[in-house]
Amino acid sequence: MRDDLRALEGYHSPQVEVRVRLNTNESPFPPPAAWRDALAAELSKVDWHRYPDRGAHALREGIAELHGVLPSQVFAANGSNEVLQTLLLTFAGPGRSVATFEPTYQLHGHIARLTGATVVEGERGAEFTLDPGELERVIAAAQPAVTFLCSPNNPTGLEEPEANVRLALSKVPGLLVVDEAYGQFAKWSALGLVEEETPMVVIRTFSKTWSMAAARLGYLVGPEWLVAELEKVTLPYHLDAAKQIAGRLALRFAGEMEARVQHIIAERERVSAGMARLPVDVFPSGANFVLFRPRGKAGKAVWQGLLEHSVLVRDCSSWPRLDDCLRITVGTPEENDEFLAALADVMAEVTG
Ligand SMILES: *Cc1c(COP(=O)(O)O)cnc(C)c1O
Repeated sequence: MRDDLRALEGYHSPQVEVRVRLNTNESPFPPPAAWRDALAAELSKVDWHRYPDRGAHALREGIAELHGVLPSQVFAANGSNEVLQTLLLTFAGPGRSVATFEPTYQLHGHIARLTGATVVEGERGAEFTLDPGELERVIAAAQPAVTFLCSPNNPTGLEEPEANVRLALSKVPGLLVVDEAYGQFAKWSALGLVEEETPMVVIRTFSKTWSMAAARLGYLVGPEWLVAELEKVTLPYHLDAAKQIAGRLALRFAGEMEARVQHIIAERERVSAGMARLPVDVFPSGANFVLFRPRGKAGKAVWQGLLEHSVLVRDCSSWPRLDDCLRITVGTPEENDEFLAALADVMAEVTG
């Protein structure tokens, strides 16, 4: 085994059997029934003895149309995590550095390390905003081959201001990756900045907004030359026939998806307001989850208390820089009500 991998820890997201599961940022709603029916019908017609369309042309045309770009600007893969992996295999690796601004999505640094790159961690401020001076300092010092920004940021929920993305673009010596796994829940997107001469990609996924975490499908939009390079690095036929069909058909239901997004945004605001009435610090979110910190250094105890009410949220309380923080994924209105009621009970027990 490689020495540099021995000390690495894997990526964990513990699952527990509970009534209300609000810990992995999935959509609380299944995809439309009409999508399931259309998928079943098309699956019965697949030539299973043949390899799938290696270029995933129909799927990429659909995604390109959604964003008003060219199909040759779209690279699709098995979840946006595989997009990240392909990017890092192409642009990172031994002898190169990759910049992240912590706390942020753990897999950015983790996959970078798997490629043998050195990860340079910039620091966000107390409220998890990113100071432009820190952004410039880290880029100047590390000269990163790849710089990550995540907007809205997981696990904090904060949207990265457009000014920071533009500043990063003006300073990076390499590639800027803007991870917009939660982009549809946010007020602005970096997609409008993508251009052939701009060293930037924007990553999206079907896992969250599109209610399709089980399908494992994500993509990036970027310059055509870059997509062509990624095609060399990724495994041939990595996108199976079923996935290509699932994604292509989902695009027909963009209206339904947008309605779900608006519903989740409204619930997010309701849940945030409900939490703010309790002794809890709530961080503003542009995503489908909310980070919060029960006051009185009670993070772990509150997580446990919620679990005893059969409500599972993500326990970030022992993660670096996230002391006592918990993250709740916005669920159905009924699940959110259960969560708010349980949190009120638990806060009364813990602080009372
Ligand atoms: C969930 C998530 C992803 C990964 O999603 P896939 O299911 O692999 O598409 C990527 N980035 C961030 C920030 C996420 O939270």
